Amino acid sequence: MYKCEFCGKLSKPGEKSYTIIAKKRPKVYHVVYTKLIIKRRPGKGKRKKKIRISKLTKGWEIAKELKVCLDCYNRLKNVAQS
Ligand SMILES: [Zn+2]
Repeated sequence: MYKCEFCGKLSKPGEKSYTIIAKKRPKVYHVVYTKLIIKRRPGKGKRKKKIRISKLTKGWEIAKELKVCLDCYNRLKNVAQS
């Protein structure tokens, strides 16, 4: 017997448990890079300009596995695939 870690339902004795890598945590990465911009201005030639770009990139980090019941397993699996 186990307790579903997603809905909290207690399983029946002998009921199979399912493990799913369910939880991904959004993670924000801070990226800084330098970009060279070349501007062409008519009659005045080219002008180079360096700019520093500070950017936040979002990614995912696998947080944990859950032991879930069949209902939740199917639900979470569908969510993960979409
Ligand atoms: Zn459940």
